[in-house]
Amino acid sequence: MVEIKNLEKSYEEFSLKNINIEVEEGEFLTLLGESGSGKSTLLRSMAGIEEKVKGSIKIAGNDVKTALKRGDISMVFQDPLLLPHLTVKGNVVFGLKMRKVEKAEKERRYQEIVKELEIEHLGDRYPSELSGGQRQRVSIARALVMNPKLLLMDEPFSALDTNLRERMQELLKKIQRHHGTTIVFVTHDRNEAFYLSSRIAIMRKGKIEQVGTPEELYNMPKNTYTARFLGMENILNSQEASAIFGEKYRVAKDQYLVLKSEDLEVRSAESDKNNSFPGKISEISFKNGFYYIYAVVKGINFKIIQNGLEKNVEKKDEVDIYYKEDKLIFTEGEK
Ligand code: ADP
Ligand code: MG
Repeated sequence: MVEIKNLEKSYEEFSLKNINIEVEEGEFLTLLGESGSGKSTLLRSMAGIEEKVKGSIKIAGNDVKTALKRGDISMVFQDPLLLPHLTVKGNVVFGLKMRKVEKAEKERRYQEIVKELEIEHLGDRYPSELSGGQRQRVSIARALVMNPKLLLMDEPFSALDTNLRERMQELLKKIQRHHGTTIVFVTHDRNEAFYLSSRIAIMRKGKIEQVGTPEELYNMPKNTYTARFLGMENILNSQEASAIFGEKYRVAKDQYLVLKSEDLEVRSAESDKNNSFPGKISEISFKNGFYYIYAVVKGINFKIIQNGLEKNVEKKDEVDIYYKEDKLIFTEGEK
């Protein structure tokens, strides 16, 4: 559905470099990255609204500019930009009117989409009479009613509060499954990316650092940058790894060993020394049903997340920290 080859785009102080990516029909691809990494610039390039872009961008086999003219691409922004003098209905059917879609068909598509987005009761309201979440639903309805081949969304939920945001994510997922729309979505929020996406492209300084399914990224971060960006902690350099494991695991000089917080477990010192190492607890906190345990091992700070804790384990205790060998991640340093 989307085929990008050797895309380059430069501003005075920033450039997208050597972007190559394909998006299959029906895929949900998320561009995930820090602010300023070039996500919006890449998305605008895919929409055909960015000038002086080098390389080739094809949407459903056509050049992006042609695809844009044919109405194959719809876009949703963080700020909905609804037309203030039109009602919700006027806004949603605006594009259909421009394309001279016949009346009965227009009505049918309108009814279908507002029902799906649960805004059928808002048809006569003006944008100023809507909440932020409702405005965003209207802007998604306006985009989807056009039956685009490609839907591009730039941080559409970033301005909404947490609960509303989660509801919108669920709704979007449901609608995407139903329509099979190909979506490229931009966010800086890794949880949002993991929940929604079939694949994620991590962007960094104008480049795609790593692409993969959520599981692939989670199990095989390409380097310490992606590992950290995905929220992984306990990233040991070779010296730290050998301080803890001795000769057991060989971590080359420029390599790192990641022990993800949720793959570790604290138990009071006892039994199986094979898959554990001793440490001292410095802090314990409880959040969202999980224990967050901070421990020091040979001067190195560890964070462990687990959903239960032995009764007798307390701050300042000497404990054993258990790991699973098959969950260890060996990775490269960032360049
Ligand atoms: P993101 O969406 O990941 O936050 P952007 O694609 O918006 O990143 O921006 C990437 C970089 O390009 C930023 O450093 C930004 O300042 C710069 N940039 C974006 N748009 C323009 C523009 N129209 N002119 C000059 N620089 C721009
Ligand atoms: Mg942006």
